[in-house]
Amino acid sequence: MRTGARYSGGAMTQDPINRNGLSHRFWEKKPLSKLTPQEWEALCDGCGKCCLNKLEDEETGDVHLTRVACRLFDDSICRCTQYDIRHQFVPECIVLDPKTIAENAYWLPQTCAYKLLWEGKPLYEWHPLLTGDPATVHKAGVSVKDMTVAEFEITEDDWEDHLIEEPM
Ligand code: SF4
Ligand code: SF4
Repeated sequence: MRTGARYSGGAMTQDPINRNGLSHRFWEKKPLSKLTPQEWEALCDGCGKCCLNKLEDEETGDVHLTRVACRLFDDSICRCTQYDIRHQFVPECIVLDPKTIAENAYWLPQTCAYKLLWEGKPLYEWHPLLTGDPATVHKAGVSVKDMTVAEFEITEDDWEDHLIEEPM
């Protein structure tokens, strides 16, 4: 199962997501459907887990993360390397937005801000919107920075040897 991300591309900066000028705790004051594009983007914590290949249990429908990353994912920076043109290489990569969250929330990782808010839960205290520091998702051990394996090295039959326990 390949699922996709909406993590911002662009030049590498300290925080690739523009979180400047946002209203204080805006995500607690309006529904996801009312967020501006900048507010929506700012919700991404940069964990990178949506760029991992997943396995779906055919009987239960449960989705399990593996550490086998999409071919475009660079775990040293925890980002897609070709975000703007990714569909040329990975056409099945999903664009997550207020219209598609309902059908995709089930496969998102348990810590994903979009999934949490969709389920009516608060953000974790390590979220960059709360800490002001994009590195806190890595410091909290929640991201997949420096811990993935490349999908061209692992056949799909062996993905189950690389399952990740959630939450992480
Ligand atoms: S917060 Fe959600 S959308 Fe952002 S990188 Fe993590 S799993 Fe992907
Ligand atoms: S194409 Fe890019 S955004 Fe989509 S899953 Fe792969 S690394 Fe992530």
